[in-house]
Amino acid sequence: MDNEHIFYLLESKFPELDSILIGCHADNRIIPHECCEYDLISIYDDNILFHRDWASKKKSNVLQNSNRVYEVLVLSAQEFIKNPNINYTNFVQFPGHVLKSNIVNHFLEKCDRYHKSFNFMIKTNIINNICEITNLHSLLSRDSVDERFISFQLKMISLKTLKIFIHFYLNSEDRPSHLKYQINLVKQNENSKTREHVDLLLEYIGTNRANISSLTRSEKSLSFLIRNEDSTNNRILFNKLDFFKRKSMYVDGILLINSLILERVYDNQFIQKYNKLLNHVTDIQTKEKITMLKEVNLLLEINKNLI
Ligand SMILES: [Zn+2]
Repeated sequence: MDNEHIFYLLESKFPELDSILIGCHADNRIIPHECCEYDLISIYDDNILFHRDWASKKKSNVLQNSNRVYEVLVLSAQEFIKNPNINYTNFVQFPGHVLKSNIVNHFLEKCDRYHKSFNFMIKTNIINNICEITNLHSLLSRDSVDERFISFQLKMISLKTLKIFIHFYLNSEDRPSHLKYQINLVKQNENSKTREHVDLLLEYIGTNRANISSLTRSEKSLSFLIRNEDSTNNRILFNKLDFFKRKSMYVDGILLINSLILERVYDNQFIQKYNKLLNHVTDIQTKEKITMLKEVNLLLEINKNLI
C-alpha cells in the first residue's frame, strides 16, 4: 500500500496530531475504487490548545489533492474515546507527536474493544431484526395495511440482514461501496443454504432490476431528498454514483444508495411523510399483502437461522 501521499498530507495539515486511516483503503481484502475517499481520523491531546477550525465532533473535513479525496475527522482524545459511532476492524497508523510519547494507544484500544464486542453486536442486530419483523407481521395481519410503508421497511430489513451475513461470515464491517464484492466473498466460501439465503435477500432488495435507468431514477430522487443538506459530503457520494454508472456497476450503485438510506435511520414519522419519495429512491415496487407475508416469514427464518 502506497501511503506516502497520506504522510505528506498529514505532515502539512496536522503535523502535531496522531492519525489513522480506516475504511476500504485500510482493508486488505478490498480493492478500493478510484472514487473511494480516504477516511482519516486525527486526534489531538486534550491538554494542547489546537487550531479549532478543523476540529468538530461530528463533521469530517474534506480535502482534495490531485485526484484523491480525503475525509479527515479531527477530534480530541476524549471525544474519540467516547464516540460510540467510530468503529473499525482494520486501521493503518500515522503517528504524530503525542502517540510517540503516549503510553496508551487509543487507536489500538478502540479497535481491540470493537473486535471483542463484534459477536455481541451481531447477535444484538439479529435480535433487533427479529423484533422488527415480528412487528411487521402483526401490521400485515390487520385489516387495513399500508403496503407502501411495509414495502419500505421490508427492504430495509432485507438489507440489514444482508449486512449481518457480511459481518458474520467475513468478520468485518460492511463497506457500502463494496457490498456486492463482499456478498460474493460470502457466497464463495459458504454452503448452499447460506448462498440460497443471500440470493433471496438480493431478490427482496431487487438488485436483479438494477440497470442504468433504475440507477439514474434512484439517484435523481435521492438528490431531491437530500437537496437541503451540506453538499460537500454528498458530492463524494454523487461522484461515486457517476463512477458506478461509467463502469456499468449498477448493482453497486443501487446497494450504495439503499445503504445510505438505511444509515440515516429515519423514524416512522419521517418515513410516512416521505414514503413515496423514499420508495422512489430505493426503487421499491409496492407488493401485494400475500407476497409481503411470504417475505416476512422467510426473513424471520433467515434471521433465526443466524443465531
Ligand atoms: Zn471504497
